[in-house]
Amino acid sequence: MGRPGSSAVAGERLTSRSPIDGYSLGEVPVATRADYDRSVDRAVQAFAAWRTVPAPRRGELLRRFGMAVRRDKARLAELITLEVGKIRAEAEGEVQEVIDVCDFAVGLSRQLHGLTIASERPQHHMLERWHPLGPVGVITAFNFPMAVWAWNAALALVCGDSVIWKPSEKTPLTAAALAGLLEAEVANFPEAPAGLATVLQGGREPGQWLAADPRLPLISATGSTRMGREVATTVAARFGRSLLELGGNNAMIVAPSASEDLAVRAIVFAAVGTAGQRCTTLRRLYVHESRRAALLQRLSGIYAGLRIGDPREADVLVGPLINAAAFEAMQAALAAARAAGGRISGGERVEVPGASGGWYARPAIVELDAPIEVSRQETFAPILYVLGYREFAEAVRGNNEVSQGLSSSLFTRDLAEAEHFLSVEGSDCGIANVNIGTSGAEIGGAFGGEKETGGGRESGSDAWRAYMRRQTQTINYSSALPLAQGVSFDIGG
Ligand code: NAD
Repeated sequence: MGRPGSSAVAGERLTSRSPIDGYSLGEVPVATRADYDRSVDRAVQAFAAWRTVPAPRRGELLRRFGMAVRRDKARLAELITLEVGKIRAEAEGEVQEVIDVCDFAVGLSRQLHGLTIASERPQHHMLERWHPLGPVGVITAFNFPMAVWAWNAALALVCGDSVIWKPSEKTPLTAAALAGLLEAEVANFPEAPAGLATVLQGGREPGQWLAADPRLPLISATGSTRMGREVATTVAARFGRSLLELGGNNAMIVAPSASEDLAVRAIVFAAVGTAGQRCTTLRRLYVHESRRAALLQRLSGIYAGLRIGDPREADVLVGPLINAAAFEAMQAALAAARAAGGRISGGERVEVPGASGGWYARPAIVELDAPIEVSRQETFAPILYVLGYREFAEAVRGNNEVSQGLSSSLFTRDLAEAEHFLSVEGSDCGIANVNIGTSGAEIGGAFGGEKETGGGRESGSDAWRAYMRRQTQTINYSSALPLAQGVSFDIGG
């Protein structure tokens, strides 16, 4: 217990502290370089065996793991609530995402399709085939401490890869619990080698080792744009592949024809859910001038009544920020917005009885006349910048003018606006929604964003291809050796 504080690495131990009250939840040992090398050696050996197991059998491991997660759903969700501060419903939703992606991977295990391609040469057979890639390093952020690893691990494992996970230093217990369930399934699965999926606890350092290690052909990294830039540069220097899921600065447009009821519900969930700590959190709202005053009034009323507090309590909607640094970053952003002329409501610290070591803040609304420097950045806290617009094109330009490109949303009943928003001239983000908020994606679609969000795609659709290597194969079953493009190369004889 001791004094409240934030999760931190101290020497060889990593202490996990609950953002609910700042008290210690437990400790884990930090991976040393020797632990790291042992894990990677084992992952390399495990890959050599696992890649030869038929994909539908690999899917069976994921089916069993998904069943184990189903059985432990309530306890896993409770751990997320304790370690990240998510309210119960959102924590359960995250565990459900793990289950969903396991189910998806089971189906995928019979659908890792290649292609047959028409050859220009007679009696030649050309095809494209997908092979397992190698051991995959996965670095994850604190705010989705289970789901993001599961998106990666479920696909990587079904594709025949082994996986090494470096979870956030803020969520070591959540990682240990989930990985422990998988380890138990691996131990009971005859074809699954030891070391198929391992966890390396610690701060940045094990993540940096993964990025620099040529034994790992793919590094999937989720977190801030700063982290992504460092990881991507290191991985590129050794010609590895990186799959980056970085910061977002997501906007919604509320058009004249929008249903106010739907828009308000979507705005509040997307802007204050997970206390504004989702990569897809709604941060910028463009409202048509004809709707602005009424919408703002309604939002202000809802914000004033939001129940903020201990996320274990039933009617709480907004739990704590992850730590003091997150609260300070929020205050710094609000101060910058005020200095630039923003009109602010909310944003103050909320005292929660019995939880003085927790950092609770009332979500803030900042009215702006035009975008400002701080509204173009991602502050990982519940701040909603509200801007007006007159012409639809102006709002679309606003959506696209930031350096991040993750999620975007439009509320309208106007078909032309909706189609324009979804067209090549519309949203430039990886995710574009109509009459749905910016957050809360389903696992069936490919998830990820453009520009400084990193360009990676995970989870559904054909995201699995990132975890495999493509091989073009050509077989000549004729008795001649015709060259492509009709090239003649006569060596005589
Ligand atoms: P963070 O960047 O501080 O840390 C993320 C992970 O990277 C941690 O495991 C950390 O130890 C590791 N890390 C940090 N520096 C590293 C380095 N130089 N080399 C290797 N590893 C390093 O992020 P956070 O505070 O945990 O999470 C919040 C951020 O994550 C936000 O920017 C959010 O938008 C982003 N995020 C993005 C997505 C997405 O899918 N696009 C999903 C969740 C979170």
